[in-house]
Amino acid sequence: MERSPTDYRTGLWVDWCPGCGNYGILAALTQALAELGLDPAKTVIVSGIGCSGKTPHYVRVNGVHTLHGRAIPFATGVKLANPELTVIVEGGDGDLLGIGAGHFVALGRRNVDMTVIMHDNQVYGLTKGQASPTLPYGVQTKGLAKPNIQGMLNPVLLALASGYTFVARALATDVKHLKQLIKQAVKHRGAAFIDVLQPCPTYNNVYTAQFYRKTVYRLDEDPDWDPVVRDPSQEHSKKMAAMAKAHEWEPRIPVGVFYHNPLVPSFEERLQSRLGNYLEEPPARQTIVSGSDGTPVVNTESLRRM
Ligand code: SF4
Repeated sequence: MERSPTDYRTGLWVDWCPGCGNYGILAALTQALAELGLDPAKTVIVSGIGCSGKTPHYVRVNGVHTLHGRAIPFATGVKLANPELTVIVEGGDGDLLGIGAGHFVALGRRNVDMTVIMHDNQVYGLTKGQASPTLPYGVQTKGLAKPNIQGMLNPVLLALASGYTFVARALATDVKHLKQLIKQAVKHRGAAFIDVLQPCPTYNNVYTAQFYRKTVYRLDEDPDWDPVVRDPSQEHSKKMAAMAKAHEWEPRIPVGVFYHNPLVPSFEERLQSRLGNYLEEPPARQTIVSGSDGTPVVNTESLRRM
């Protein structure tokens, strides 16, 4: 069935500030969902808290607006309970890499098949522009009384070190390119991460849309750049090359795919190797029974332990 991006939009009024990069991310996301033809009933968007956390309200698929920093563990539960679902996490840099940093790392180690789209504006926009973990040391945005006293966490480098098997960066204002990357990330079988540089015109007057227009360059325009691991022997060299690229920031910021390794088993495949019928009979297909204290629990007795 052919779908259009508007099929994936709810009628809710979008209340992000004028000029916010979140509009570009929302447009790219709905275009990607439409071009992938994803069934809204089998697609789930999970968000945390922050301006980005409102995304599930605007997209007509299943959506859960969870707690600050907890989108990834919630999404992991959704995916492992029902591996048939396409699961996408939408979160801010403060949400995913501040309070949620431990969960971010754990997802890479597990390689659960889901996509994390990070709205990276370097500030806590919803709470008046405090410095987030991705704002460089010494930079003073307009919400700060003094320059940032903390160091910057590099999200692409952290994702690579944590074990994400698809790692990319995009610019929120380049909707076409971001849409392509979201499609690639969703199709990838494993943990995929996209760091989206997202201008916040209300609180970040340093890393603006104009700044990114001047500094960003596309990795896919370099004919020698090949981030795909095609053989296990390439894993180390490709990851080292991606890590070197991840260190580039001003005056030239790379966007595109840094690393793509389709050879690592997903967490669902690892579970299947221990529970022989996990993929055919996942928890979502099991019966709900009454636990010893009367609370409803999933009966996992029929899962075959290997
Ligand atoms: Fe966007 Fe910043 Fe406004 Fe939040 S505060 S909606 S991130 S412009």
